[in-house]
Amino acid sequence: MIRPFTYAGSPAHIVFGNGVSSDVGTWVEKRGCKRALVLSTPHQAAEGEALATRLGPLAAGVFSGAAMHTPVEVTEAALAQAKGLNADCVVALGGGSTTGLGKAIAYRTDLPQIVIPTTYAGSEATPILGQTENGVKTTVRDARILPEVVIYDPELTIGLPVAMSVTSGLNAMAHAAEALYAQDRNPVSTLMAAEGLRALKQALPILIKDPTNLMARGDALYAAWLCGTVLGTVGMALHHKICHTLGGSFDMPHAETHAVMLPHTIGFNAVVVPELLQPVADIFGASAGAGLYDFAKAVGAPLTLRELGLRQGDLDRAAEIASKNPYWNPRPFDRAAIRAVLQDAWEGRRPQH
Ligand code: NAD
Repeated sequence: MIRPFTYAGSPAHIVFGNGVSSDVGTWVEKRGCKRALVLSTPHQAAEGEALATRLGPLAAGVFSGAAMHTPVEVTEAALAQAKGLNADCVVALGGGSTTGLGKAIAYRTDLPQIVIPTTYAGSEATPILGQTENGVKTTVRDARILPEVVIYDPELTIGLPVAMSVTSGLNAMAHAAEALYAQDRNPVSTLMAAEGLRALKQALPILIKDPTNLMARGDALYAAWLCGTVLGTVGMALHHKICHTLGGSFDMPHAETHAVMLPHTIGFNAVVVPELLQPVADIFGASAGAGLYDFAKAVGAPLTLRELGLRQGDLDRAAEIASKNPYWNPRPFDRAAIRAVLQDAWEGRRPQH
């Protein structure tokens, strides 16, 4: 039986296909803009410059200082440049860090955003911005933050290193897995989540053998859109809270932490909502948590928090922080339950559920 639900479709324009990023100028013009500020990280500065060259007179300049966790100082420097150049839109080329900078600018100025994602993090499909100031990370949700146009071009992801492709893919899968049991899920978010998981299950084993396989790159990027969309649509629970804690308070790497935690948090929740997580078990085999663990292992993902550099002595404090500010999760938990989940993830034990 269909449960009662509410549904609001995303107003964003999604453009998908091999080579479609060459049309970026058309999308700048369609937004009524003439002076785009191109954004990238220092690592992708050359790609940012090449994009500006392709935009020709439609590019006002390039800011290539985007950084992880969207530090407010970086946003202020980019804002000053945007103002100085009289920019009327931003074009963000890169992963979640670059997208975050574009969102931070749009949140403050309402400039239109065109995003060209090159990882599977999914930030481009959400109205959520996480930013850091004086070492504290805060999250805001606002309609101005959702990018207006997203251009998914699988050809631009060929260079995403295999290890990052795997962890970024598992990061995307975490959005989908938690969407399956979200309180505010709807039939469309559930369909998108299951399809995202299916597409990544198909793509990642091919990508680790042949990173240049455009079909698999396309499947993975398609999944990134689906998983990012459900992240922006429904509420997340224990998994995202633990990863937020480990990233925010222990400076753990974003995608890798999601990859390690995923089988454990989903295995923990599968005990009480096995029917909602059945799509995960169907796609990955075994039970939801064990199936995800076996898949992560098969594609060479990191399996322990230990190898990511977290000290065992930090687990008590991590459990303390992650169990503060009670939030909804399908399975009730206390500090001791989170501590046990963290211990399993630190050691990399295969979940039973
Ligand atoms: P990232 O954007 O930090 O990228 C990591 C590194 O890889 C960067 O140096 C980047 O330039 C490089 N890179 C990206 N794509 C590449 C490619 N195709 N080839 C070669 N190098 C490439 O990593 P991420 O995991 O995409 O994003 C993580 C950040 O995004 C975190 O700060 C996280 O909080 C945020 N995030 C936000 C949301 C949201 O909805 N607000 C969702 C997901 C992630």
